[in-house]
Amino acid sequence: MSRRGELDVVVVGAGAVGGALALALAQDGFEVALVEAREPKPWRAEDEVDLRVVALAPDARALLEDLGVWRSIAAARIGPYRHMRVWDALAPGELHFDAAERGEAALGWIVENKLVQWALWQALHEDSVGRNGFTRAAAEHSKGVRKSIAADAAATRPMIHCPGEVAEIEDGESGVTATLADGTRLRARVLVAAEGAESPVRKRLGIAFEGRDYAQRAVVAHVATERPHAGTAWQRFQPGGPLAFLPLADGRCSIVWSLPEADAVRLLALDDDAFRAELGCAFDFRLGAITATTPRAAFPLRLRLAARYVAGRCVLAGDAAHVVHPLAGQGMNLGLRDVACLRRVLRDARDRGSDLGAAHVLRRYERERRSDNTLAARGFDAIERVYGLASEPVATLRGAALALAGRFAPVRGMLAAIAAGRR
Ligand SMILES: Cc1cc2nc3c(=O)[nH]c(=O)nc-3n(C[C@H](O)[C@H](O)[C@H](O)COP(=O)(O)OP(=O)(O)OC[C@H]3O[C@@H](n4cnc5c(N)ncnc54)[C@H](O)[C@@H]3O)c2cc1C
Repeated sequence: MSRRGELDVVVVGAGAVGGALALALAQDGFEVALVEAREPKPWRAEDEVDLRVVALAPDARALLEDLGVWRSIAAARIGPYRHMRVWDALAPGELHFDAAERGEAALGWIVENKLVQWALWQALHEDSVGRNGFTRAAAEHSKGVRKSIAADAAATRPMIHCPGEVAEIEDGESGVTATLADGTRLRARVLVAAEGAESPVRKRLGIAFEGRDYAQRAVVAHVATERPHAGTAWQRFQPGGPLAFLPLADGRCSIVWSLPEADAVRLLALDDDAFRAELGCAFDFRLGAITATTPRAAFPLRLRLAARYVAGRCVLAGDAAHVVHPLAGQGMNLGLRDVACLRRVLRDARDRGSDLGAAHVLRRYERERRSDNTLAARGFDAIERVYGLASEPVATLRGAALALAGRFAPVRGMLAAIAAGRR
């Protein structure tokens, strides 16, 4: 238990969101406990690139840099992309984003989920900031951003309970107590549920969610192509769902192919040759033939928006609060924006001497993040619906809108800024 006999924050779930939040708060000097059900599998350079990759936006990178973990992620394996090309299978017109146009080195980075989680997990196990070689070196590397924190002797190390699960939550006037399955009692000012889409804490708190089942699955694989990917993230919209080719550091592409359930099941059952042929065709052969593929996996796609992010002293973050269609590659980026916001809100509350778990403090986080996440999720949902329509007049309208947006630099700039988390 903490030096005051009470923690500031208990974070449940050590995925990218929970891991980043626990690390950020500990580095800021909060007393933190982190509860994770399963120890993450180690990331190893000699292993095949994990099938689950994410496109991280510049603001997500900035947060990971600030936490001192970006350097180890970048040194391990990342695929930067400088261009993004989006087009419609049923209409002419193409949207092209170019990092150079925005004066930036990259629009984003393709990173394995497992690598982000592992880098954070390792950093969480390091000793306190300022006393530790890895974290200090990484902090110094990241443009001095962390200097103020490294100089802060109050930085703490989170208490990690793994394997651990919350069996009971008692939410009271002055604090919240989480009792773990092994009987450990953790008392804190705030409890954050970041255990992903199925969040048992969200269910325990009785927070409902709205949304819909897309009746689609995202088929993922890594493929080699005849022509180089040219540091470009490609996306072709088809009536069944979008198909993305994301550039990996080793020259291959990671595909995310959203399809109606039955089509996904059929694709998963194809032999490699038949799959490569069908994939090449679905991608318009933009990179020539598909010359090799890894085994495939598939994920069900859903839209889920928690009705509220706060219940007493408990808050939701990341996929526990919002699950979005992967067509814009934003799920983890939104979750890391939750982290940045909650961190700021809790720091402000501490600076003002407020109770961290006071309703007005947590509501500020909810107001900021729920509106942003809902707007993004509804936007992706609208895009999914509009591009799911195969009728000719709709396709013609879509083509005209895409062509117009493509020709109009300020519109392109605005869309790129939203995707980058800079509005
Ligand atoms: C096909 C696909 C492609 C995607 N592409 C992108 C992309 O390009 N860009 C992007 O930003 N996002 C993308 N996403 C979304 C992204 O993967 C998620 O938004 C992100 O991983 C969510 O992180 P999280 O930490 O909130 O949850 P999770 O990653 O689900 O982590 C939850 C953690 O909680 C732990 N846990 C679970 N239950 C318990 C419990 N009872 N007690 C304690 N711990 C528990 C789990 O073990 C895990 O460690 C994609 C998603 C899919 C399906």
